[in-house]
Amino acid sequence: MVRLILFGPPGAGKGTQAQTLAKSWQIPHISTGDILRAAVAEKTDLGVKAQANMNRGELVPDQLVTAMVQERLRQPDTKPGWLLDGFPRNVVQAHTLEQFLQQSAQIYDRVINLEVPDDVLVARMLSRGRQDDNEAVIRRRLEVYREETAPLIDFYRGRQSLIDINGDVSVEAVTTAIKDAIAKPDS
Ligand code: AMP
Repeated sequence: MVRLILFGPPGAGKGTQAQTLAKSWQIPHISTGDILRAAVAEKTDLGVKAQANMNRGELVPDQLVTAMVQERLRQPDTKPGWLLDGFPRNVVQAHTLEQFLQQSAQIYDRVINLEVPDDVLVARMLSRGRQDDNEAVIRRRLEVYREETAPLIDFYRGRQSLIDINGDVSVEAVTTAIKDAIAKPDS
């Protein structure tokens, strides 16, 4: 049973790591960015509401995202565990998640904080070629990360949940570092 929050700035490699880990542990990879992009592509109500914010590099309103995550965490495939990627993104979302997990008698095990220098993040995002990966939007996403998301580092450190991982090494080395850290009972 692993319940993990993958945390870090945009471009840190959360999605890449989550995919590998989810496969290896056979638990769902829940990426709010992926769910939102699918909603935009399908032009659902959620997608229509989220699209403008996403294109600007801003956060999508909390109520939309938290409702989406709660619905996903209620699905039966999350019984053996889950990996959250891209959520929570601010303190309000973190509180909502804690309340929801308490109500459903669950708890997250650890928060993995992937650390990568800014210049590497920008280079990675530019090479990814996603619709919201042009330079102006990338700059805004990094600002939003610093202003709204980075305060969660102290939030989770205060809860003794945070594990810092150097994300500026090979994909395989990061995966190994995460697995090693999780395997230690009181890391
Ligand atoms: P990501 O794929 O995680 O980089 O997310 C892409 C975009 O989706 C972000 O720039 C936000 O606009 C939106 N998004 C993803 N997750 C969240 C979240 N937890 N809260 C608000 N907006 C989000």
